[in-house]
Amino acid sequence: KILVVGSVNIDLVIKTERIPSLGETVSGSGFSTICGGKGANQAVAIAKSGGDVTMLACVGDDVYGKMAISNLNQAGVCPAVKVCDNAPTGVAVITVCGGDNHIILDAGANGLVTIEMIAANEALFQAADIVVLQLEIPMEAVETAARLAKKHGCTVVLNPAPFQPLSRALILNVDLFVPNEFEASQVVGFEISGKEQVKKAICALEEMGIKQPVITLGAQGSAFRYGGEVVFQPAFRVTAVDTTAAGDTFIGGICACLCRGLTLKESVRYASAASAIAVSRFGASVSVPSKEEVLTFLSL
Ligand code: ADP
Repeated sequence: KILVVGSVNIDLVIKTERIPSLGETVSGSGFSTICGGKGANQAVAIAKSGGDVTMLACVGDDVYGKMAISNLNQAGVCPAVKVCDNAPTGVAVITVCGGDNHIILDAGANGLVTIEMIAANEALFQAADIVVLQLEIPMEAVETAARLAKKHGCTVVLNPAPFQPLSRALILNVDLFVPNEFEASQVVGFEISGKEQVKKAICALEEMGIKQPVITLGAQGSAFRYGGEVVFQPAFRVTAVDTTAAGDTFIGGICACLCRGLTLKESVRYASAASAIAVSRFGASVSVPSKEEVLTFLSL
């Protein structure tokens, strides 16, 4: 059983030819309302990879909250979602202009995932084998969740995104740490470019007390320690269409596989295939492939 404790957002996306200047109105097109939030995306990715997953989160008492819960249900995630009447559902307003985007985020109800709410749901931690965390809810909630997960013998997975400084106490409670290249460089304090630097970063993370780091490197794949060596899993070659949620798909895939008893190496290979497929399609959690699709892709 897997428990995700994290964020639920709705992305309001609009395309425009030009970013408006102050006071100006420009025409946009292709408006879409997309279910997102790193926590929810990872939960959906786990469910699509056949994992038994529950999501602990907060939404507002509004139409977006209903939409987010129904999206989780549809994907096969069990939602342990509190509906709060004192904040709106988390929303990201995204303007896409050419290859660039501008994002304004209101965390809304995600900010209401409190220490008390985590403690009130201890039974979910007791039932879980793996607990998956990101940093789109208050840091003290993440720290409490990690502590409670350890108390119940769960494997703690942390995706340190969006990056924030991490306390030593949190770091020591993490079993599997999955940053992208940028987040990893923030933690170790030096830029990571090239394989030697990646190896150095993995050693630096281990020296900080992180048990198992897996660094994702975008189209370059990922790196982790296996059997004493730092090994590189190259990315599968695809035509990249939309890299949104590549990392979330990757983490979901790893967690679902580890929970089934696969080795880290096998899990990373599956996750790389799943995220490569997601990158080859438009959308966030809608682009995450099913387990069957990934297994077919891997056997080709
Ligand atoms: P994030 O989305 O968190 O920044 P990355 O960009 O590192 O994460 O991507 C996560 C994983 O997704 C990579 O390790 C890789 O396996 C896969 N991936 C990302 N971009 C591509 C790509 N262009 N082609 C194939 N696989 C990719």
